[in-house]
Amino acid sequence: MEIAALGIDVGSTTVKMVAVNRAGEMVWDHLEPVDPRVAQQVDSFLEKLRQEIDSLDGIPLVATGYGRNLVKQAVKNITEITCHSKGVFSQLGHGGTLIDIGGQDSKVVVIGAKGQVVDFAMNDKCAAGTGRFLENSAARMQIPGSEMGPVALSATEEVSISSTCTVFAESEIISLLAQGVAVEPILMGLHRSLIKRVVAMVRSVGLVPPLLLSGGVVKNPAIRKVIADETKEEVFVPEHPQLMGAYGAALFALKLN
Ligand code: ADP
Repeated sequence: MEIAALGIDVGSTTVKMVAVNRAGEMVWDHLEPVDPRVAQQVDSFLEKLRQEIDSLDGIPLVATGYGRNLVKQAVKNITEITCHSKGVFSQLGHGGTLIDIGGQDSKVVVIGAKGQVVDFAMNDKCAAGTGRFLENSAARMQIPGSEMGPVALSATEEVSISSTCTVFAESEIISLLAQGVAVEPILMGLHRSLIKRVVAMVRSVGLVPPLLLSGGVVKNPAIRKVIADETKEEVFVPEHPQLMGAYGAALFALKLN
């Protein structure tokens, strides 16, 4: 395996590392839930990679994400907005409006025709527009994270969730379940509630088509469907949506090589 550069994205929920070759192709990746001892976790990521190649000496590492300043091995730190845009633009080959939904934040970035960041908005203050909103609600219904999307898509009807706050939505779910409402329509309503918040952010920035998606939450098929429904736009998703920040960081590191 030829490795020319590395990128790491220390997110609020997961840590992702990507290695690229000289051509900028992703040749290795690793993802784990974030550990509060980030410095040790980064060491263990590098150790994992070291077991697969002879030496990491001289291979530049760029860090991004919420915890990027904790990565002491990085030669440079770059914001998530810039790295996600770089990763998605390189994978999909065109600009547009990027929606990135992570575990505890969401962002909207308008990416120009040359891959530059034209405008952006970010929500890292309220869980309701993030993966956390769905995870908490699904946990209440004893549905595992990877099943939330498929279960929601099996619904034949949908319940409107009126609470916009994650904590109150949980109380609303308990009350709906007590009334005998099935989990599928509740889950579909929760997906729509989350996406309505994200789409409001898209409207505030201004939607420049096409619509591009990244972040772990867009691996959920119901999320992709509801975004397309609510915006009436076709959505474009890179092959590894959760790795786009780390991939973008690795591409920036490649330029330093
Ligand atoms: P961050 O960068 O903020 O740490 P990520 O982009 O790694 O976040 O996304 C983490 C979120 O993605 C979590 O909320 C998790 O539940 C969600 N997620 C990951 N894979 C899936 C999946 N297959 N289906 C639904 N949600 C998923």
